[in-house]
Amino acid sequence: AKAAGRNTYRFFTPEMNRDAALRLELETELRHAVERGELYMVYQPQVDLETRQVIGCEALMRWSSRRFGEVPPDRFIPLAEESGLINPIGEWMLNRVFADISALNRTLGRHLAVSINISSRQLREPSFLERFRHYLDEYALAPDGLLIEITESLLVEDDEATMGCLDALVRMGMRLSMDDFGTGYSSLSYLKRFPFSEIKIDRDFVRDISTDPGDAALCLAIIAMAKGLGIQVVGEGVETEAQADFLSEHEADIGQGYLFSRPLRLEDLCGYLGVGVRS
Ligand code: C2E
Ligand code: CA
Ligand code: CA
Ligand code: CA
Repeated sequence: AKAAGRNTYRFFTPEMNRDAALRLELETELRHAVERGELYMVYQPQVDLETRQVIGCEALMRWSSRRFGEVPPDRFIPLAEESGLINPIGEWMLNRVFADISALNRTLGRHLAVSINISSRQLREPSFLERFRHYLDEYALAPDGLLIEITESLLVEDDEATMGCLDALVRMGMRLSMDDFGTGYSSLSYLKRFPFSEIKIDRDFVRDISTDPGDAALCLAIIAMAKGLGIQVVGEGVETEAQADFLSEHEADIGQGYLFSRPLRLEDLCGYLGVGVRS
């Protein structure tokens, strides 16, 4: 639009104006979401594809806005990142997830791995590491039970603050997981640069895994490469037995998707795991 110079204004159709206004309203509401208690976390089980045992879960954020109803994260997370709101929201998330998982582990009597999504804006925030360490101590969580999911787009930025923060997290014992693998740019060089312990095959590849030979070949190549590097593989968006069978036959380690469970509130996750929880 910039290249259009003086004529830029003609791109601002009434529809786009409404969109911009909506964004602003969403942002205004999001600014108060934490204090109003409108955010909550859900947890999607991850299962060992061989035994079908739940071995972990991914923490996913939800926003129930009094004004807009349930706003999907694909809508509000980018907004939170652009506005910087991701920092207070991300801090709320860490506190909530760590509290939930420590209660869950106490009830279960075993350690469930939990994966959290961290955006580049959070990693660049100077106080992030300190806050992270604080909550880890407060809830006495074992660092190796935590996986930090990051996307390739984050790594593309390659700035010192981000890389320094990732290095520090790894030194603290945290595990790194590469999210949405296969959808970004030169993922392979990042596997060399960082000690990732996990790769998540994007659900775009998993969808047609059992019907599209091209997608199947790509998945096999990803799995083979990961195995060679000693990295565990998660298949995302597993919705059918055929997909799960394909993945487990070809030695992917973990499955996540609606076939096993939708993301659940903590109480429902406990129900799914067959335990009650007191938090
Ligand atoms: P993601 O990290 O790739 O998360 C996986 C998404 O796939 C989730 O969408 C999940 O609900 C959905 N999903 C899981 N299984 C299936 C399936 O079998 N079929 C289909 N169609 N979808 C499935 P969700 O919860 O809407 O989150 C969307 C994105 O928002 C996430 O993508 C992540 O990038 C971001 N996000 C969510 N929570 C957080 C958070 O706490 N912090 C940050 N920074 N980003 C978050
Ligand atoms: Ca993720
Ligand atoms: Ca993903
Ligand atoms: Ca995604």
